[in-house]
Amino acid sequence: MTKQEYIDEADKVLLHTYNRFQIVLNKGDGVNLYDIEGKKYLDFATGIAVFALGYNNKEYNDALKEQIDKLIHTSNLYYNVPAIDAASKVAKSTGLDRVFFTNSGTEAIEGAIKLARKYAFLKDGNTDHEIIAMEHSFHGRSMGALSVTGNPHYQEAFKPLIGGVKFAKFNDLESVKELVTDKTCAIIFEPVQGEGGIYPATEEFMQGVRKICDENDILMICDEVQCGMGRTGKMFACENYNIKPDIMAVAKALGCGIPVGAFAAKENVASAMVPGDHGTTYGGNPLACAAVSKVFDMFEEHKILDNVNEVGAYLASKLDEIVEEFQCVTARRGMGLIQGIVLTKPVGDVVKKCIENGLLVISAGSDVLRMVPPLIISKKDVDDMIEILKKSL
Ligand SMILES: *Cc1c(COP(=O)(O)O)cnc(C)c1O
Repeated sequence: MTKQEYIDEADKVLLHTYNRFQIVLNKGDGVNLYDIEGKKYLDFATGIAVFALGYNNKEYNDALKEQIDKLIHTSNLYYNVPAIDAASKVAKSTGLDRVFFTNSGTEAIEGAIKLARKYAFLKDGNTDHEIIAMEHSFHGRSMGALSVTGNPHYQEAFKPLIGGVKFAKFNDLESVKELVTDKTCAIIFEPVQGEGGIYPATEEFMQGVRKICDENDILMICDEVQCGMGRTGKMFACENYNIKPDIMAVAKALGCGIPVGAFAAKENVASAMVPGDHGTTYGGNPLACAAVSKVFDMFEEHKILDNVNEVGAYLASKLDEIVEEFQCVTARRGMGLIQGIVLTKPVGDVVKKCIENGLLVISAGSDVLRMVPPLIISKKDVDDMIEILKKSL
């Protein structure tokens, strides 16, 4: 079939929940993707901050192939070795104690919300606990995750959502304090807001929320689904602030392409969940967990964080030059290899131009061009990207 025939068929059979760009991707290699016509794209989108280790990575692929031939699925009625290995690595790297594997970021958030409610329920027996979330946040599309997503446009048609959620202003500690009551069981936020437009939390906000939580026995839930797994230069973004949440949600780059997420919690919180409280058929299956386990090994072996810090700083400096040079680019925000530039031109048009010119980037918020490249990129890749970006702007 031709590209157009594939697109026509897709538009007939897929639910129309995305306005997709008119390319049909076929294969990947390193930092590049190729469509079915053989056109090459430099990938600064990584399937939305997922493919951190680059495409067609032999070491990663071999680990998965080996697991496929051994055992793909078991359910959680039994133990399996990859899940045990992966959970130990997630616990160690997050500094938290217990892990629950899910199939997506959304489900990690669902689990985190349920855990927070159960923890509070065990304390006072009440069933009307409240959660404070942030405006312009993004936590996913299932009913629980959507309920804490501070974007009325995503929520409106799907009400009623889960109750007891209040929205504070991100990076505005006073607005959080105003919402705290004796019913508050959790404060949930992204240390770097991704979809909302690449807004890193301020030091003051992170420290302040931690203090509010400590003083009131409220659980701090950090959504590290997008900004975690090395993207900011630390394994998890909250480490940039020397803050440890009570519950952390991870996904996206956790499996580097295999659909897997997780939430992890401190022991005193995690112990609120007992058999029967939560479950999943696929979550933590051996194939997904073999990917997670390999990803952690490769991060260490290939010193991924060092590369993020070095190339991230270079990317930031190059983007700052773009801000200087182009009137239609007014600011840069970000940390490490999650960076955004604010545009006065329609972002969608620039994204389209970039794709035409062989560069995949994505939008965030209403006016931000977002870059979340593979964490293995080189300075040369940044230079190549900048050249295409300039031409496209
Ligand atoms: C993508 C994302 C989610 C949802 O993850 P899915 O895997 O798409 O369900 C949740 N939180 C944040 C911060 C995200 O970026």
